[in-house]
Amino acid sequence: MAFELPPLPYPKNALEPYTSARTLEFHHGKHHQAYVTTLNELIEGSPLERKSLEEIVKATYKDEAKTKVFNNAAQVWNHNFFWNCLKPNGGGAPKGDLAQALERDLGGWHKFEDDFKKAAVDQFGSGWAWLVVDKGKLKITHTLNGVDPLALGQTALLTCDVWEHAYYLDYQNRRPDFVQAFLDHLINWDFVAQNLTKAKAR
Ligand code: ZN
Repeated sequence: MAFELPPLPYPKNALEPYTSARTLEFHHGKHHQAYVTTLNELIEGSPLERKSLEEIVKATYKDEAKTKVFNNAAQVWNHNFFWNCLKPNGGGAPKGDLAQALERDLGGWHKFEDDFKKAAVDQFGSGWAWLVVDKGKLKITHTLNGVDPLALGQTALLTCDVWEHAYYLDYQNRRPDFVQAFLDHLINWDFVAQNLTKAKAR
């Protein structure tokens, strides 16, 4: 079964002014679509064709013969995940269990905000900033290119795409401004809370 590009969970202009319809048109319609198309071409006729996306990411990480498959599969997974991390009128400090978990493991919302922003800005070149559960604790990380928590044996709770294609049309080189807008206006905490509940059940 070939993989398909999932539709965005909101209209293309829903995240304006923080992410424009034009950015989503390219980011979802061209970049994400290209990862899906390339992955399908790469696995066609191979045993990987019958695996789930998660299985492909895990099975091909660190396999030098399958770097291209990994890069594309991980980028499909990362983008599927990323769209769900965003929503109109999102962001700001979370409430409930999440607020408590941030307090317990990461020093609270303001410290989280500073540290997550730093992780996103410090990621040299293309990559991702993440909030993950690692060995039962929340942790902030950043990864290069397509590498993700799934490959590293961690559970992803939240991510911010810091590839230039995520922000260049709206912010040009001002990655810190994009990350700040992500934190203040775009994070879908309901999705993050669902991920935390799933992580606890494991
Ligand atoms: Zn992207």
